[in-house]
Amino acid sequence: MTTDSEAASPLDVELPFDLRPRAAKAVRDIQLQQFIGAATIGKDRGRRAAFADTFGDRYDSLRTLAGSIKQHTLDHLDRYLEEFIDNAIAAGVHVHYAVDADAANAICLEIAHRNGCRLCVKSKSMVTEETRLVPALEAAGIETIETDLGEFIIQLDHDAPSHIVTPMIHKDRTSVGRAFTRELGVPYTDDPARLAEIAREHLRGKYRAADLGISGANFLIARTGSIVLCTNEGNGRFCTSAPRIHIAFAGIEKLIPAMDHLPVLLKVLARSSTAQPLTCYTHIITGPRRPDEHDGPEQLHLILLDNGRTDLLREPTRELLRCIRCGACLNACPVYRKIGGHSYGSVYSGPIGAAITPHLLGPANYPDLPHASSLCGACFEACPVKIDLPRQLIQLRKLMVEQRISGSWERAAFRLWAWSLRRAWTYRTASSIQRIALRLLAALDGTPGRGDPYSSRGWLSRGPGMLSRWTRERDFPTPTRRCFRAWWRDHRGGPA
Ligand code: SF4
Repeated sequence: MTTDSEAASPLDVELPFDLRPRAAKAVRDIQLQQFIGAATIGKDRGRRAAFADTFGDRYDSLRTLAGSIKQHTLDHLDRYLEEFIDNAIAAGVHVHYAVDADAANAICLEIAHRNGCRLCVKSKSMVTEETRLVPALEAAGIETIETDLGEFIIQLDHDAPSHIVTPMIHKDRTSVGRAFTRELGVPYTDDPARLAEIAREHLRGKYRAADLGISGANFLIARTGSIVLCTNEGNGRFCTSAPRIHIAFAGIEKLIPAMDHLPVLLKVLARSSTAQPLTCYTHIITGPRRPDEHDGPEQLHLILLDNGRTDLLREPTRELLRCIRCGACLNACPVYRKIGGHSYGSVYSGPIGAAITPHLLGPANYPDLPHASSLCGACFEACPVKIDLPRQLIQLRKLMVEQRISGSWERAAFRLWAWSLRRAWTYRTASSIQRIALRLLAALDGTPGRGDPYSSRGWLSRGPGMLSRWTRERDFPTPTRRCFRAWWRDHRGGPA
């Protein structure tokens, strides 16, 4: 758990990123296990109940509808992008296109400098995490305050979000209290209401003084040129209406065709992220302040970010762009629940992070991520837009093999295994050798049935080669004396 204000951001990783040391550290951190376990299991249960209460057995049809709206938009993205840009410009929005993260930050800085902005209030946005916007703004001398409570705490602690929706899932209120005392100079408290009050008092003055507001976008509506922003704390509204300049960041995949499609996506987004029927505040922003309006920015800029998304548009990865960043797959994933978000070494964690990060940042840079999954299918069941994440992870593994990114020993072992599976006699011979060797090692090992009081077969606690990675964490059951095929022959009277 990172609470040290001097620690480097968990996103500052060396490439190629090695997930294993971080994951090993995380699974031994009892406190982290408690925080993440309680939060993710609670949220996952809440999601199921929220859908069951309202939609019952129509849940699957709703997911299909939500997924098909996103898929249709992606299939015609060129047309909808053009329509959106025309309508947004007609509404008075300055639309910019950024090919990558650096270009997006440079556009933002140029707008800020041109308008003499010195203080920025910012609402939660994963895309700006992706571009590392806040360090870029601060390096340019623009004081930037995160206004989402979780992000505010993360910023005070010089930490990084570890969950798409609940960025400080890895922290508890005592670490928040300590951060407030250290950074804001207030007396220590771990009372959540008082902590929220302190944050509110601190932020209120900043909203009044800020000349720049930055937000993300949950959806972009092609037919009206509108930006849709969903928040639960009301901070998004302050960031987009109080400062004189508003800059919104959005990935090009955020488009949907028309306002009619929005209710479907709002319903699935809120239930999947926080088990609410709707987020508390849903802002639909169409252009800057008009002459007869009392609030709103003088200028509204939208930066449309590509950053590898047009490559993802190719099949078979297009469905990954349906993601509405609800976080449900993280909460459902048994691997995320054990290793937490920082173990993934990238902005996007959990199953969706494991599936998109290697595509966005290079498969050779993140070779472990496609393997950070048990392929149990829980992420697919949880996903409100039906992204087949297990299939995507398997495809990525295949890509790693094709590009020879996986180690030569591993490739040779799997080639040999595949060869042995193609013929009955090689399969039988390999199984027999494996059974005899493992039984011999177990006999030398002499470990009694640790963890399984009903086993009389003995266990292997120090496996050879690749098996040692398994036995470092848990014992391996010794194979039975006779194989299944022999048992079948004796009991069923025919060949298995
Ligand atoms: S992949 Fe699906 S479940 Fe995961 S964050 Fe995206 S929309 Fe939500």
